Amino acid sequence: MDGAFSPIAAPRDALDEVERRYATAITPLMQSLIDPDDPNDPIALQFRPDARELITTPAERDDPIGDHAHAPVEGIVHRYRDRCLLKIVSVCPVYCRFCFRREMVGPKAGGGPKTAPLSAEAFDAALAYIAQHTEIWEVILTGGDPFLLSPRRARELTQRLAAVPHVKIVRWHTRVPIVDPDRVTLEFVDALCTDGMTAYVAIHANHPREITPQAKTALDRLAQAGIPLLSQTVLLKGVNDSAETLEAHMRALVEARVKPYYLHHPDLAPGTSHFRVPIERGREIAQELQARASGLCQPTYVLDIPGGHGKAPLGPCAIRAADEGVELRGADGAWRAYTGE
Ligand SMILES: *Cc1c(COP(=O)(O)O)cnc(C)c1O
Ligand code: SF4
Repeated sequence: MDGAFSPIAAPRDALDEVERRYATAITPLMQSLIDPDDPNDPIALQFRPDARELITTPAERDDPIGDHAHAPVEGIVHRYRDRCLLKIVSVCPVYCRFCFRREMVGPKAGGGPKTAPLSAEAFDAALAYIAQHTEIWEVILTGGDPFLLSPRRARELTQRLAAVPHVKIVRWHTRVPIVDPDRVTLEFVDALCTDGMTAYVAIHANHPREITPQAKTALDRLAQAGIPLLSQTVLLKGVNDSAETLEAHMRALVEARVKPYYLHHPDLAPGTSHFRVPIERGREIAQELQARASGLCQPTYVLDIPGGHGKAPLGPCAIRAADEGVELRGADGAWRAYTGE
């Protein structure tokens, strides 16, 4: 199957069908990183439409992580008590082929409510929900990509959230510093900062080649402003499913002052089975990464449980029961008895 549907050999009408069904976009910077002579280029695999997207497996569903079940008002997903998602932008600078968002926006969704940004009224209602729920300590801005806001609108959002006394943290989830780093201007960075509330930025990057000089400049601007940086990486077959690649990637992130946060097992988005490795393989890779690299380079390997039940850590377990006490697995992989308390 892989051979028959390799991206280059795919018949044109299959690719047309992919583009009818799903949104597609790539930035000039990401395009420039692709080696046109490599049919399995790890950057191309992430952004170039692929006929294999037409294959949907029974396990894949339309709302893979069950967000719909926890959406009290438009734009808010409130699954965990102390934090909620706020989605104000519905578009992305790129459409990653493994992401369910490529189906929520773009041609199929038309100009309907799925593509429209949050209206002024809906934004006010979402802010009112946050203000009423005093248990919300952190607001996570996701989307779409909130770094597509203009500096003026980003500042307005920062000020509106900072005006809610119980909101102490605002976390921006974005791919812009990687795929379109020139958008991260000093003016934009300044719009994220305010007294009385702390901004965090979590960037999404999957391959060491994505950490370009331009991306490093954008990350440096954020870090210089005192904004702590985190990363999310999706474990993707053919892109980064080896300890060597992940090690190089995590080191590049840490060198750019980004603390790896999550390594995601891919969601069950429709037409993405060609990106998933078995969970067992993922755990092996995570364990190998642990053995090879500094603690600074270790993200938590997680899977979002379908149905809206949250994230489950999948990482290798270093403790097991023994006849007497327990056994602990050391950095070398060997199990050793521990009989203390
Ligand atoms: C992933 C997620 C969060 C954030 O979880 P953290 O573990 O704090 O990063 C919050 N809300 C929803 C609905 C999520 O899916
Ligand atoms: S939400 Fe993030 S992962 Fe999904 S398509 Fe947009 S940029 Fe890519």
